Amino acid sequence: MEKKQFQAESKRLLEMMINSIYTKKEVFLRELISNASDAIDKIYYKALTDDSLTFNKDDYYIKITPNKEKRTLTISDTGIGMTKEELETNLGTIAKSGSLAFKKENEIKDGHDIIGQFGVGFYAAFMVAKQVTVISKSLKSEEAYKWVSSGVDGYTIEPAEKNEVGTDIILTLKDNTEDESYDEFLNEWRIKEIVKKYSDFIRYPIKMEVTKS
Ligand code: ADP
Ligand code: MG
Repeated sequence: MEKKQFQAESKRLLEMMINSIYTKKEVFLRELISNASDAIDKIYYKALTDDSLTFNKDDYYIKITPNKEKRTLTISDTGIGMTKEELETNLGTIAKSGSLAFKKENEIKDGHDIIGQFGVGFYAAFMVAKQVTVISKSLKSEEAYKWVSSGVDGYTIEPAEKNEVGTDIILTLKDNTEDESYDEFLNEWRIKEIVKKYSDFIRYPIKMEVTKS
């Protein structure tokens, strides 16, 4: 499989993101939840103008699944998803906001709920993850795709299995070191605390899947 490279500017930006923009690692969760909420909002806005789409509020939610054994944290949403091209442009180009573009295309004025605009939040995931896997199926596509990246050395995209429209962001947490532990991000209470602190205003349900171990 061919490995695509981030653009030169993107590489430097990515390093900056990971090392210095955020003061607290925990904010990665705020960024991923806001993206999930934006993705659901996009279906909501599409449904306002498209009669073939109905927005049944119960079908839309965000789910957080920690897996202590695999050391993964998955953030899933039932939002609009991404096509192969969108995975490439929105996640392969740093500072490219698909949400800002969406607002422009659909003439959604400021003050609406879609949060994204700068096109950098997603990369906050690399503060805590050694690998980020995005499995997404777009409302516009029959096929699902998987985007995988370990950071500055690029990303791969390949076809994937996913039945429902939406996106799963799977973070494989970094290994603990003598100075730094990432285990807190697998702890249910800690996750709840972070969600409460930063994402209390999100208007879709945020569920947590608890796996007993
Ligand atoms: P921003 O949210 O400011 O636009 P991000 O770096 O957080 O920037 O995300 C980049 C883009 O990737 C988003 O604008 C959106 O188009 C796409 N994206 C990220 N996460 C998701 C998701 N869960 N579902 C659909 N699209 C997403
Ligand atoms: Mg964002």
